[in-house]
Amino acid sequence: MRHITFIRPALGEGPSADAMTPLVFAILKARTPPEIETTLIDERIEPLHMVPTDLVAMTVETFTARRAYQIAAAYRRRGIPVVMGGHHPSMLPEESAQYADTVVVGDAEGAWETVIADAAAGRLQRLYRSQPGRGGAPAYDRGIYGGRRYAPISLVQVGRGCRFACDFCSIHAFYGTYRDQRDPADIVAEMRALPRGRMVFFVDDNLYWRRDAFEKLMRALIPLKMRWCCQITIDVARDDALLDLMAAAGCALALIGFESLDRDSLVQMRKKWNGVAGGYDDVIRRFHARGIMIYGTFVFGYDADTSASFDRAAAFARERALAIANFNPLTPMPGTGLYDRLRAEGRLIRDSWWLDPAYRYGDAIFKPLGMSCAELSEGPMRARRAFYGWGSIAQRTLRGAPQWRHPYKIGTMLLANWISRREIVRKQGRPLAVRRQGEWLEASP
Ligand code: SF4
Repeated sequence: MRHITFIRPALGEGPSADAMTPLVFAILKARTPPEIETTLIDERIEPLHMVPTDLVAMTVETFTARRAYQIAAAYRRRGIPVVMGGHHPSMLPEESAQYADTVVVGDAEGAWETVIADAAAGRLQRLYRSQPGRGGAPAYDRGIYGGRRYAPISLVQVGRGCRFACDFCSIHAFYGTYRDQRDPADIVAEMRALPRGRMVFFVDDNLYWRRDAFEKLMRALIPLKMRWCCQITIDVARDDALLDLMAAAGCALALIGFESLDRDSLVQMRKKWNGVAGGYDDVIRRFHARGIMIYGTFVFGYDADTSASFDRAAAFARERALAIANFNPLTPMPGTGLYDRLRAEGRLIRDSWWLDPAYRYGDAIFKPLGMSCAELSEGPMRARRAFYGWGSIAQRTLRGAPQWRHPYKIGTMLLANWISRREIVRKQGRPLAVRRQGEWLEASP
């Protein structure tokens, strides 16, 4: 085997202004023998183009599954085998196996080397499974990105998995209770090699795992004097000493899943522990007091939610000067407890909604109890418009700036708001997997 093509499919619409580097391909590249040439095609930022290749490897999410299956069909018609991995094939291997020659369930590490060896020997299996943590320490070859114009942010992964079990979460569905963390010394070494002056994004779905491990990591980051952002659970705010360490270690922005202002909704999503740190106002105050900006996320559609929930959340996020916020309709991802529950209750409008040509990004996928489907589809957009209006941006900047203190952070916040304004309008209402390049429209699904 001489050449492998890595493909990251897009939702289906035009180029994205906020695409980040796809870390999985740096991992695959590092584990690919050097004598095998590789090409990366990231459809979010470049048109799909076919190059002579012996094997195609795609990472597939639920929102890109339809597009991935189209692309796979085009390659397979030309006799080129296609391997699919990622969250979606891991949750639904039987479905993906209908469109791919090979499906990898679980993390790429531990399976990829075998896939390559088997492909080279002409004995590709239909299914490979890897167990988390069994594939050895991750290594990254970021040279795979070439000179592509990604968002100017460096991605680093500390560990995988999350100790919580929110019912809508595909991370929990993927990893269960598994969680690991790399040696902080490795992370520091990796970060020293990254471009200076760029923000680092720790891509972990929840950076806070265990107090001792987190403290060790924060102390290791302090000498680097780098700015970073992360996704983290609210319980870290119970501990002032940890928040002090986060600030000292360079945390500029923390993404926190507030999810809901309604206790009943938090209970239903199995996230009532969101109240452990003393209430949202107190949490926000503690982060802001240390100059850490907050990116808040909210989700709507639980049984206690009504059409007023959207406006309440948008007003909350605006008044508390959240730097960035996201407002999403509850989306039952395959494999999650939420999906299984709604399906069992007969409330899914479409079972395999990700394959449905009629589905549009942002559509309600199930029947909510406290509002209509149309309200669930339109409410998040209304909240986003309110939050990202110029008046709101100005108000949040004026309120937040004295706490965030540094011009770099304020500039980052304004840039992120400007990009978000554009992107939320661009994606909303788009069908999945419809592209402008005619060659790629011929395949189904
Ligand atoms: S805390 Fe976040 S990552 Fe962890 S299970 Fe809940 S939604 Fe998923």
